[in-house]
Amino acid sequence: MLKVNEIYFSVQGESTYAGLPCVFVRLTFCNLRCTYCDTEYAFYDGKDLTIPEIVEEIRKYDCKLVEITGGEPLVQMEECLGLMKQLCDEDFEVLIETGGSLSIKDIDQRVKIIMDLKCPSSGMEKKNLYENINFLKPLDELKFVIGSREDYDWTFDVLKRYDLENKCKILFSVVFGKLEPVQLVNWILEDKLNVRFQLQMHKFIWHHETKGV
Ligand code: SF4
Repeated sequence: MLKVNEIYFSVQGESTYAGLPCVFVRLTFCNLRCTYCDTEYAFYDGKDLTIPEIVEEIRKYDCKLVEITGGEPLVQMEECLGLMKQLCDEDFEVLIETGGSLSIKDIDQRVKIIMDLKCPSSGMEKKNLYENINFLKPLDELKFVIGSREDYDWTFDVLKRYDLENKCKILFSVVFGKLEPVQLVNWILEDKLNVRFQLQMHKFIWHHETKGV
């Protein structure tokens, strides 16, 4: 049984899948409390569903791309791993979005991982589980949400220390309302980083506080 906050159909707002129709399964609970969190409503509320019930709900949308998100989906580790395996077995293309503080080592190899490393201004930097870097595959995506020059300098150091640009795809976003996108783009170009800049597309399509999109 998994506690599920919501299941909905929308377009991917981030990652290299941005713009594609996708079914989102938002699991309840998060072990972090980022300063900029926009999904606090997923910390506690949810309904208990079995894996077959979740898969049945997903099938209604007739869409092969599914993202498991949260909160932090890996708080419900065992059941979440089971759900992803079941979806892969049924030929869904499965993405998981995780905050990077819980182990990704047991995630099915068919799943595309989109993982954060939390920057200092999130307040959660000390929770980063750096050994997760060893389990990222070349097509997985590692995301940094940057809210200040201090965050950028920290990210630059981490990129170089772990040679991340040669390990997997790297995504840079701004903390919405905290750092101007043009500023971050200028820093990326000045340093000639091999990273992908992204905006959270759903915050421009809908009002930035709209849920379930
Ligand atoms: S990991 Fe995500 S859901 Fe959890 S507090 Fe941070 S931003 Fe919010």
